[in-house]
Amino acid sequence: MAVPKKKTSYRRTRQRRTHHGLSVPTLVACAKCGEKNLPHRACANCGFYGGKKVLDTQSKLAKKLKKKENGEKKQDSKEQ
Ligand SMILES: [Zn+2]
Repeated sequence: MAVPKKKTSYRRTRQRRTHHGLSVPTLVACAKCGEKNLPHRACANCGFYGGKKVLDTQSKLAKKLKKKENGEKKQDSKEQ
């Protein structure tokens, strides 16, 4: 098994970890609904980008809710 020749100094460790920091993503408010989103991307809430509807967020939401309901029903049937 490979063994390090020398103990890593505190300075070395800290120097290596200077690149480990996380940055806060830049968010912009949607012009349509005001929801915070990543810039240059369609709004996840209303599906608008550049004044046009580009995403069908309603059907996605409905699908999600349906799936959730079915999941709960399955759990109920298991309990009974
Ligand atoms: Zn929006």
